[in-house]
Amino acid sequence: MSFILRHFRRHGRHYLWGLVFLVATNALLMSIPWMLRGIIDALESGRATPSSLASGALLIAATAIALAIVRTWSRLFMLGASRRVVYDVRNELFAHLQTLPASFYDRYRTGELMSRAVNDLRLIRSLYGPCVLYAADLIFAYSIGLTLMAILDPLLTLAAVLPYPLLLAGVYRVSRTIHRRSNAAQEQLAEISNKVQENLTGINMVKAYAREESETRAFRSLCRTYLDRTIALARSRGLIGVLMRGLGGGGTLVVFWIGGLHVIERDLSLGGFVAFISYLVPLTDRTIIMGWILGTFQRGLGAVDRVREILAERSDIPGDAVVGPAPSLDGSVSIRNLTFAYPDGATAAPRPRLRGVDLDIPAGSLVGIVGRVGAGKSTLVRLLSAVYAVPPGTILLDGHDITALPTQHLRRHVGVVPQETFLFSRTIAENIALGRPDAPRERIEAVAEMAQLTRDLPQFTRGLDTIVGERGVTLSGGQRQRVALARALLLEPRILILDDALSSIDADTEEAILKSLRGSMRGRTTLLVSHRVAPLMDADLIVVLSDGRIAEAGDPRSLLRRDDGLFGRMVRQQRIESELEAM
Ligand code: ATP
Repeated sequence: MSFILRHFRRHGRHYLWGLVFLVATNALLMSIPWMLRGIIDALESGRATPSSLASGALLIAATAIALAIVRTWSRLFMLGASRRVVYDVRNELFAHLQTLPASFYDRYRTGELMSRAVNDLRLIRSLYGPCVLYAADLIFAYSIGLTLMAILDPLLTLAAVLPYPLLLAGVYRVSRTIHRRSNAAQEQLAEISNKVQENLTGINMVKAYAREESETRAFRSLCRTYLDRTIALARSRGLIGVLMRGLGGGGTLVVFWIGGLHVIERDLSLGGFVAFISYLVPLTDRTIIMGWILGTFQRGLGAVDRVREILAERSDIPGDAVVGPAPSLDGSVSIRNLTFAYPDGATAAPRPRLRGVDLDIPAGSLVGIVGRVGAGKSTLVRLLSAVYAVPPGTILLDGHDITALPTQHLRRHVGVVPQETFLFSRTIAENIALGRPDAPRERIEAVAEMAQLTRDLPQFTRGLDTIVGERGVTLSGGQRQRVALARALLLEPRILILDDALSSIDADTEEAILKSLRGSMRGRTTLLVSHRVAPLMDADLIVVLSDGRIAEAGDPRSLLRRDDGLFGRMVRQQRIESELEAM
């Protein structure tokens, strides 16, 4: 309720004006039958003259024009306010999503979040717009209309409103079925767009594996279900039309009969009878709309709940809540008995991916991290930049517990080049400058040079100013990795982490990159996760991970001397492989 009221309050002025115009709308609307009554009664009694008739008609026309104007204003204010509310909620939701950590995005699928941002916001707009508008309209129309009708004929008024509860309940019931069917159709439409999106993204795979026909068949089956669902929806919509007209018409018939008798018995004037029937139409319409709106109201509340569920999510990274002075960092890392499991909503005790890791990395060293696939290498380096929450006291940078360091400050000092990079559809230079949009051009060019990207620039039409395709598709895998490396270098981090980030780069270019890194990262710490051991031979420290534990750690030469060492085995194996390749 606090969420709902907060947004009403914020745009209270608009709603207030909307309500004022709505009262005026109903007053003008209800005055027209009253004027009609006067004219007809005058005609019947013979008091009417051509000029009184003309002035009556003019008055009705002027009222109708005024009605159209205030009606438009009432809708502009009320529906405009609902759009303002959705504008606020949409921005609040997006800004909040920016603050949520990786563990949140592991739990929610992108499609689900997109649906909340689009469909739920549409439902919330209906709640704040049409629901409020029609509910208020109903109250005003009932109060003014029923009062005037009761003045004309109290008994007839009772007969007229008797079928209303039935009308309301009937429409509400059918509208629930319509909403359910409309949801099912919407979901199917979402499936169809997902399918199109996935198919177009992976069109090269579809063609490479000759799946065109089966993809078309699967698509047709999705469309068939959508067709069935929309036809079922059209059927319920048709039913609601019949129900509305049937019940409304039946009610009018009863009023016609009883009202007609009252006119014959002279209990009601002919003008009063016409006015009464004219009041019936807007009241019946509003009752029907109310039945419909009740369903929309419920769905709107459901949408508010779902959006609030996301807004109530908080980052579990302790550093996100830390404010205050941020110490300068030099680049030494201490890891103390670190055991870590990815948060998993489904299991109370998820399997740890790192167990009892102890490690000391002096500032300025080059550290190689190796191990089999899934050994926990990426997990370990991810934790250094606080992508996931770690227990306090387990990771220290220059003696500062990372849980006590403001996350943004930490990330300015820890540059990460991930295994899979993401490039935005902007220029290469803008992609490099992601973390420092105001970086001077010379710096961008310098880091592009360090990442060995400059040699590729002549291949692009506009060099660094070439716009890359969606997610960087117009660059090769190796070029994408080097853009990502330049992006991290631009931050001039105290700790640089390359998480298997040179895997798509040939050995010579990798060697050149590492050489320039040794120069530019002098005095800074570099962590190199790699499947290739050759680039790690001049590392200060090698850490071998196996099933989340440190199996070996030491300088490469001492590790090589061990007969049964994992690192030694990897080096020998890769040497044999490269000799075989060379043959
Ligand atoms: P590779 O050499 O293949 O990159 P790695 O040593 O870097 O492997 P990690 O990516 O650290 O391995 O993964 C270690 C384990 O953690 C794997 O078993 C993986 O399935 C699991 N894992 C990785 N990321 C997540 C995640 N976000 N949520 C849950 N489990 C994860």
